[in-house]
Amino acid sequence: MEYKRSCMDRLQTIVLKEKRGVYYFQFPMLEEVKEISHGFSTRLGGVSQGEYASMNFSFTRGDDGNAVKENYRRICGVLDMPWERCVLSHQTHTVNIKKVTEEDAGKGVVSERDYRDVDGLITNERQIPLVTFFADCVPLYFVDPVHHAIGLSHSGWRGTVKRMGEKTLLAMNREFGTKAEDVLACVGPSICNQCYEVGEEVAEEFAQGFSQDQKTQILRKKENGKYLLDLWKANEIILLEASVQPQHLAVTDVCTKCNPHLLYSHRVMGEKRGNLAAFLMLK
Ligand SMILES: [Zn+2]
Repeated sequence: MEYKRSCMDRLQTIVLKEKRGVYYFQFPMLEEVKEISHGFSTRLGGVSQGEYASMNFSFTRGDDGNAVKENYRRICGVLDMPWERCVLSHQTHTVNIKKVTEEDAGKGVVSERDYRDVDGLITNERQIPLVTFFADCVPLYFVDPVHHAIGLSHSGWRGTVKRMGEKTLLAMNREFGTKAEDVLACVGPSICNQCYEVGEEVAEEFAQGFSQDQKTQILRKKENGKYLLDLWKANEIILLEASVQPQHLAVTDVCTKCNPHLLYSHRVMGEKRGNLAAFLMLK
């Protein structure tokens, strides 16, 4: 499978794999943790048709629900997770985080969600796959091997400027006693700094949320008056400032917009697309 990477010259922080026709990404750093399963989906290996082809994980974009369920069965089979116990976020670009417990198992897949406006999920209970959705926005994975707790968040530009990564770590600290120093954190496939053009208003919000020095790392002004925004770098800065150790941080070099044959990208496809999903579970 050919695809574009932004950084060919360093150790790969994320690796594309294939099993039973399902293509998915994994972080080698998280593969070392034996008590978790994780993955990030691609478009390849599912049964959805047309603009959703082929591995869409959203039930709310108009795809056939039975096809979406089959997609869950397939990837969960490959990742060794019980598909019918997945718990889905309800993403609206908030920084709200939900603590997931046994009674939530299956919500969003086999039963209705009884919550809304949830962009982050955390848990310390086992055999409950957490699932969040993407098509250019940034997936954040958190694993605390000391307190046996996990977190999974959706951080678009709004979530990033509101420091979703830090908020997820604080929620894990509050609920499970997690210390950021112990946490393995990963930034998953999303839009790269060459592809993400934003206007003055978005740039201004980032300028206010970061120092002058950080701003020069995150924003680059273009000749057309727009800006290129680096969400990978912004999330890295936020996580390091929140006390995640540099050796515990893995940042993707795979861009959704650069790889539309492999990944859904909102900037490429608009609303005519499926959703990618991040999966994380304590075994
Ligand atoms: Zn790109």
